Amino acid sequence: MPVPGPRLKSANLKVRLAFVAAVLVFAATLVVTLSTLAVVERGMKSVIGDQEYTMLSGAASFMDDRMEARRRQVETLAANLTEELRADGAALQRHLGIQASLWGDDYMNLLVVDRKGEIVVTVKPIAAGRQFNARGRDYFDQAIATRKSVISKPLQSRLSKQNIVVFSAPVFDAAGEVAQVLVASVHLQGSGFLRPINVLKPGTTGYLFLMTADGIVIEHPDRNRVMKHISATPGVNRGTLRALQGFEGWIEAHSKDGRASIYAYRRLRSTGWILAARYPTDEAFAPLQEMRRNAFFGALGLALASGLLAWVLVYRLLAPLQVLRDQVWAIRSDQAGIGVLRHGRKDEIGELGRAFYELMAERELAEKLRSASEKRLRTIADNLPVLIAYLDSERRFRFGNATFEKWFGISPQRLVGMTVSEVMGEEAARQIHETLERAFAGNSATCDMRIEIRGTLRYLQGTYIPDVQPDGRVAGVYALKHDMTHVKEVEEQLQQLARIDSLTGIANRLMFGEILPHALDRARRHGKLLALAYLDIDHFKSINDSYGHGIGDEVLKEFARRLTRGVRATDTPARLSGDEFVVILEDLGSREEAEHIVAKIVAAMRAPFATSKGAVQASTSIGVALSTSVGIPLSQPRHSQEQLLAAADSALYAAKGKGRDGYAVYEE
Ligand code: GH3
Ligand code: MG
Repeated sequence: MPVPGPRLKSANLKVRLAFVAAVLVFAATLVVTLSTLAVVERGMKSVIGDQEYTMLSGAASFMDDRMEARRRQVETLAANLTEELRADGAALQRHLGIQASLWGDDYMNLLVVDRKGEIVVTVKPIAAGRQFNARGRDYFDQAIATRKSVISKPLQSRLSKQNIVVFSAPVFDAAGEVAQVLVASVHLQGSGFLRPINVLKPGTTGYLFLMTADGIVIEHPDRNRVMKHISATPGVNRGTLRALQGFEGWIEAHSKDGRASIYAYRRLRSTGWILAARYPTDEAFAPLQEMRRNAFFGALGLALASGLLAWVLVYRLLAPLQVLRDQVWAIRSDQAGIGVLRHGRKDEIGELGRAFYELMAERELAEKLRSASEKRLRTIADNLPVLIAYLDSERRFRFGNATFEKWFGISPQRLVGMTVSEVMGEEAARQIHETLERAFAGNSATCDMRIEIRGTLRYLQGTYIPDVQPDGRVAGVYALKHDMTHVKEVEEQLQQLARIDSLTGIANRLMFGEILPHALDRARRHGKLLALAYLDIDHFKSINDSYGHGIGDEVLKEFARRLTRGVRATDTPARLSGDEFVVILEDLGSREEAEHIVAKIVAAMRAPFATSKGAVQASTSIGVALSTSVGIPLSQPRHSQEQLLAAADSALYAAKGKGRDGYAVYEE
């Protein structure tokens, strides 16, 4: 059983999912409840509005009935004022007094005026000092003009200072002309006209009010607004403005104090006055408000419950994921193999585990193949007798093969991070510096170097190849160094061999040509005498002819030996060609000394030459040229060499001419 990994400390998936579920449920519940409530509210509004308007219509028709009844009473009274009654002032006064008493408490006064507007009879006496004339009053002028009864605008009685409304009706004479006008004034507040306004209140804060078609307030709970224009109070009420333009029905509007309300408007048929009702919305919808609050808390509770449920569900659903995590942890800490991932349940999480297994198995295989290939390459590199390295852009080793350990005692692991001078010494670093920089500039380069490795000097041939990245940047340089010491040695040997005569083992013409200028130079510098002796074996052709070419060779070898023995170690004998030899004699004190040496050589060659076919007799002739005799010019060393050789040759010719087996010195 694998040891579980550490638990997550941060808010994990369970908490987040539970939170999301709770928020979603909360939002959904709230949206559904609130949108339902909004629909209900719209429905309720139209019900309330309709109810309000219906109630208002009832009140209006009640008021219309009262108005019409009063108007008919006044019309009837006017029609009953006969000629006889009007002719008797006292009787008229009595008659009207009786009628007035029948009207009850809304009655103010009853009077008859003539066509000039002057009072004919009044039930209540006019206060002393007050003048009254009905002319100019709408109820008087209209009654005369239209010959019909009139209901006046509401007005303030000049007599009583009360708000009144006046009913008037024309009184006709026998000829059918308007003779007089009957005027009845009615106390508005005191009468039963406005009783519905005070009685019918929508809700507790709602109210009714009444105004004329022109907007003069007749009745309002705010007594200060009575008899003033509705616009006298600052602010705008859209509903009331529309009502003044003729609207009837209910409408949602804001009152002048800013409170949203449902307004209903209805005109009185009798007077055109506007009866209005106001019901503040917040009061109308107080129950809905309560329902909204309940919906919020209900949604909250539901959200908490569903969040908890989601947490539990997710916890159970995610348990296999935790197991998977523990397994991965165990694999990482080597407590389990990747095989454990194959046995998950047959669901998405189990599939995930198996996919992990496949991936890791592929990776493991690829890693094995890669490390095997790396090992192969490493083995090849380590067993090559060359230095293989990779230097990074910092000029530090990133890789080096085992040859570094063999040659410099530094293991490939320790090599990483070291510089060239740390590994191979400052001198070596200096030698390759320029070439290495060329490689870092992007060019392949080669460079030879000499370096002391474990006490012996080695020649290394280096090749440097830049590691150019796709973007053109040089990330590093591959370096390869061959040990060329052996090749160099062979090369030097070959070079040496080219200067040695293969038959006799002494210097050949090439080497002689190299040595002579140095010898001449030395002689010149030290002010010493130098002599060039030119030797040729006498009648060598006949030796060849008599004994054979092989014996001729044996003679040549012995000749060279005797020549070498006959001169000092510092003097250089050389074979020029065939049977011709030369010797450079240096550091001579005098011409005699030279003559002494060549005479000795001539004598040495007289002894018989021991060969494989017995003793062979031979001799030599020598021509000598002295450096003084040609007056060696410093400026033309080559010219002086040729002159010296030519002089010696000519002396040889002389020696041969003298009968051979002797020497001659060149004379100018
Ligand atoms: P003289 O006294 O005038 O010098 O007579 P000579 O016969 O020596 O004539 P010369 O020097 O001209 O002849 C040299 C001969 O040496 C000619 C050639 O056959 C022979 N010879 C040249 N090179 C070799 C060699 O490597 N080995 C042998 N065996 N003979 C050589
Ligand atoms: Mg000869």
